[in-house]
Amino acid sequence: MKYKTLKGLQDILPPEIAVWHHVENISRDIFKNYGYQEIRLPIMEATDVFIRSIGETSDIVEKEMYTFQDKGSRSVTLRPEGTASFVRAYVEHHLYNNPAPQKFYYMGPMFRYERPQAFRYRQFYQIGAEAMGIDDPKLDAEIISMISAILKSIGLEGLNFEITSIGCKKCRPDYRTALKNFFSGKLDRFCSDCQRRYDANPLRILDCKVPSCIESRKGSPPVLDYLCGECKEHLDRLRSYLGLLKVQHTVNPNLVRGLDYYTKTAFEVSSENLGSQSAVAAGGRYDSMVEEFGGPPTSGIGFAMGMERIIPLIKNSAGGTDGPDLLFCPMGDKASEKAFLLTEQLRAKGLWVEMNLEDTSLRSQMRKANRIRAQHIIVIGEDELKNNKVVLKNMTSKEEIAAAIEIKELLKIISDRK
Ligand code: ATP
Ligand code: MG
Repeated sequence: MKYKTLKGLQDILPPEIAVWHHVENISRDIFKNYGYQEIRLPIMEATDVFIRSIGETSDIVEKEMYTFQDKGSRSVTLRPEGTASFVRAYVEHHLYNNPAPQKFYYMGPMFRYERPQAFRYRQFYQIGAEAMGIDDPKLDAEIISMISAILKSIGLEGLNFEITSIGCKKCRPDYRTALKNFFSGKLDRFCSDCQRRYDANPLRILDCKVPSCIESRKGSPPVLDYLCGECKEHLDRLRSYLGLLKVQHTVNPNLVRGLDYYTKTAFEVSSENLGSQSAVAAGGRYDSMVEEFGGPPTSGIGFAMGMERIIPLIKNSAGGTDGPDLLFCPMGDKASEKAFLLTEQLRAKGLWVEMNLEDTSLRSQMRKANRIRAQHIIVIGEDELKNNKVVLKNMTSKEEIAAAIEIKELLKIISDRK
């Protein structure tokens, strides 16, 4: 019987996993410097959590969710993104009672039923962050600068930061009307999804990927022309703070996000080296969502970056080349027992130690030492036990060091050479 991963899902194996750890560790370090704490959320939620926030007419909700009935006939959904689950938790645990800004980060798998292709999977991993309770654009600039710090620290180059504003509750109705006026005479040129969107949510027409819709919406009113004074000022101040922090960026008035909950700032970071799936990170403000989830009026801003698009951009991403600090090669039962004990004792002292568990020839043990890239080896047999002395061989320098069979001494020799 042969089993395979489901379409659009993948196993992540060593040594590539070392690159994932590298990205996760850098992100954790930088999150810490910016005051973000980890939050771990379930990978399933009640389906409504996503419908209410991401939006009924969004592609994610309409086409991409893994939704099913559990055994109690509840509709549950594997999370397609992190922010909706986060806001559910933020409100459920009254986290808004803590001093603002409250800052959180998360790492984990997301699920979207999309057509699998390069850099696009059905289970993919995001690292994301959310900052709550401050509506000053300094926070927007800070979070964008933090993304830049993380991606730079990982060593990525050729990134473009694009920002825009998509207005707020106050100015969106005017923009919606302007869009409807623009589309009204030519609705027959749009796909049936867009015709439905016209009434439900005309902004979504701007996000349609159907080529004839892309063509027919050319010349539609630009969102930036419809921003209210507050949204305009927010964007201007964000730009000036980004200038101050030297975060290179452009304003892209055509940037549309696939989620309904955004207000004011929206942004995307793309790479020149990924072809058509070029977005490596994206995010924005969501100043109404907490209230819509039953909490007090609280602004929020967040982003998520896609691991499967970041990992292939890392140069020299082989990773994990070093083998164990020490390999014991015992000859005979007594020596094997002694090595078995020493292995455990040295592991407890923080070394990576392996031993040959099976009784094999010295030659095959040496072959194994090379194959697993052991840094040091110790051959231990009857004589060594009798004299309480071993020779520790450094496999790189070929240096041979005589040592007593004694934890402290072995530990020191290896630590000095690490
Ligand atoms: P795209 O335009 O590529 O579909 P998106 O706008 O749907 O992206 P977001 O919801 O903003 O993506 O998610 C943030 C990031 O998560 C993206 O920038 C991308 O790096 C990553 N991402 C989203 N969907 C996928 C997927 N199916 N496979 C791999 N990564 C993904
Ligand atoms: Mg998408």
